[in-house]
Amino acid sequence: MKHKTLLKAILIPVGAIALIALLLGGTWLFVLPRLGASSDEDFTRQIHAQTVWQNTMDNRVPITALHNVMTRHMIAQNDGANRLLLIVYDGALATLAGTRAVEYPNSPIGQFAALGNLWLGYTGGATPGDQTTDTSPGFASLFTGTWGLQNGVLNNRGTLSPEVPTILRSMHEHGLRVRFSYSWRSHGTVNFRHEMEQFPTMFDFARGDAGTADSMLDAILNGYHAVLGSFESIDTWGHITGFNYRNPFYRRAFVRTEADAAGLIAAAQARADSTDENWLIILLSDHGGIGTDHGGTTLMENTIWIASNQGFF
Ligand SMILES: [Zn+2]
Repeated sequence: MKHKTLLKAILIPVGAIALIALLLGGTWLFVLPRLGASSDEDFTRQIHAQTVWQNTMDNRVPITALHNVMTRHMIAQNDGANRLLLIVYDGALATLAGTRAVEYPNSPIGQFAALGNLWLGYTGGATPGDQTTDTSPGFASLFTGTWGLQNGVLNNRGTLSPEVPTILRSMHEHGLRVRFSYSWRSHGTVNFRHEMEQFPTMFDFARGDAGTADSMLDAILNGYHAVLGSFESIDTWGHITGFNYRNPFYRRAFVRTEADAAGLIAAAQARADSTDENWLIILLSDHGGIGTDHGGTTLMENTIWIASNQGFF
């Protein structure tokens, strides 16, 4: 009798814990990964069902094209009043950006989509597989207007060739005050190492997304000409729980990043309203993801999205 009670006292909590672990593990392994597209065909169908896009999956714009847009606004056609705010949502799927634009028209992406300025883009090289769909090659292409075969950054271990200047450096050399805020350390220690050593004031390493938001807000309020930054939590939650636009963890990270972006946009808008400053605001992702990873050549990984307060494509 005593033995049976003891056995029960052990078996019941152990069984309960095992059951909970099984449920949580099962949800993580089998439910979360199935809350979105499971193939490029699904993904394309989901994108084309969203009516907010200016272009289609067949004529996506290369991430490198944004370098021209920034150069034109900040250098070629800058009468002194032009400003730039660029915010990267690391690892944010286009299907999720499109969902937010449809469901939340007052979100930053929703407002820019209503202006007709929400586009599909691609990263990963001129030919898929030329460079990985990761953060370093994406940013190197975004900041230089070149692909990795030319700039040397083919994956996250690559360092930008000193021969290829970034838009940060070009603006700095034109006498503009520039800040790039980030919490992914490799941007400074690997990817843009040469420029970081030569022009350290352009780089501001922060501890986490809250630090990045503070750093960017500080730059806007203190009269910087160009404020660029990258938020990491969407990518982080994609790796932990799955890159799927219906995954609640991944979506929540997106909403948090959107709140940070909205605060920065409001600060830039307030300056534009009270001065003659002409702020070009660009939001984008640097790559997508599939399952709990990215780097490969699927459309889910190499499709990006671009939103802006100004039309340029
Ligand atoms: Zn990642």
